[in-house]
Amino acid sequence: MAPTIVVVGAGVSGLTSALLLSKSIKGCDLTIVAKHMPGDYDIEYASPWAGANFEPMSSREESRWERRTWPELKRLTEEIPEAGIHFQKSRVYRRNKDMEVEGQLGLFDLDPWFKDLFDDYRELNKDELLPGTDSGCGFTSVCINTAIYLPWLLGQCRKAGVIFKRGVLKDIKEAKTLSHTGRPADIIINTTGLGARKLGGVEDTALAPIRAQIVLVRNELPTMLSISGTEDEPADLIYTMQRAAGGGTILGGTYDMNNWESAPDPNIALRIMKRVVEARPDIANGKGVAGLDVIRHGVGLRPYRHGGVRIEDEKLDESTWIVHNYGHAGWGYQGSYGCAERVVELVDKIRAQAKSKL
Ligand code: FAD
Repeated sequence: MAPTIVVVGAGVSGLTSALLLSKSIKGCDLTIVAKHMPGDYDIEYASPWAGANFEPMSSREESRWERRTWPELKRLTEEIPEAGIHFQKSRVYRRNKDMEVEGQLGLFDLDPWFKDLFDDYRELNKDELLPGTDSGCGFTSVCINTAIYLPWLLGQCRKAGVIFKRGVLKDIKEAKTLSHTGRPADIIINTTGLGARKLGGVEDTALAPIRAQIVLVRNELPTMLSISGTEDEPADLIYTMQRAAGGGTILGGTYDMNNWESAPDPNIALRIMKRVVEARPDIANGKGVAGLDVIRHGVGLRPYRHGGVRIEDEKLDESTWIVHNYGHAGWGYQGSYGCAERVVELVDKIRAQAKSKL
């Protein structure tokens, strides 16, 4: 018998988990219940705000999720234009003084694990570096237009028979009664992101927001740019990525731990734009900030978890299991298929333990 599954959350983690489960378990009844759905923009919903690109952030030891995601994102880019993903050349620049900073992203490693992941990875020549940078690397990666990709994922789930319902849960155990079939759920998939901090029955205090402010502009910059640090505030970053299919170019940003503020700060926005036009004057035809054509300012909260992402199973009661998949910080898209694949493995394990019952 196939299990009845309720997925709580409709961000990239919930949608990808549901999609892989629907492909893996023939005849299972899948319901997605969420407060926010693709199309919504809200500070409690990280996924629409993301760039989103694939710029590996993990250390070699924790690279599984990103390593396992890359082949599928590459396949979608090559074969499924309606998913809203395109290839973009990426240029990553390092400053020696940033290399010892605590918590520095794996993206800036001098000997990164992902040099074997991309066919065309190479170290940049000295004459390719930006002023003030000491080394760098280049490779062809992807950028996802999340405004297209999230509805596309939802459509793929619908095609596979997944039913979507709005719902706001106070406690994870309520999901047991929320299957569209009317039957109690056998397995609950918890993909509530930062919401898992307050959700009854989970209340994971290891979760914390990392505030990300961005500016979306109409200007184009065909090469993605990331630099390991800035001369501005400690939480300031510099990166750009041009979204597929006319989605505009994201200018970033900030990486501000424990900051819940949802309103864009105009001073931060100005700093973001100044840094980008200084590094790449061509984005604004040399006209500086005045040459940027702003679509909107945005703020999202990356769902960071001290100790790392939580992907594990838990028994709720005699007949119900929970599989958690939350806490992806700034890499929820680039780890999405790897993590969803692990969710499927855990569901398979639960079914094997429950023998013929599920
Ligand atoms: P969310 O998208 O937050 O979804 C949570 C879901 O759970 C929502 O549907 C919500 O309504 C639901 N929910 C929560 N609580 C409840 C409840 N009690 N009841 C019902 N429903 C509930 N990642 C990358 O890989 N590449 C990038 O380039 C990138 N850039 C980023 C740029 C910005 C500006 C930001 C903010 C993030 C970026 N990220 C990027 C990170 C990425 O956006 C997140 O890791 C990812 O979106 C997390 O997805 P999620 O599905 O786990 O959570």
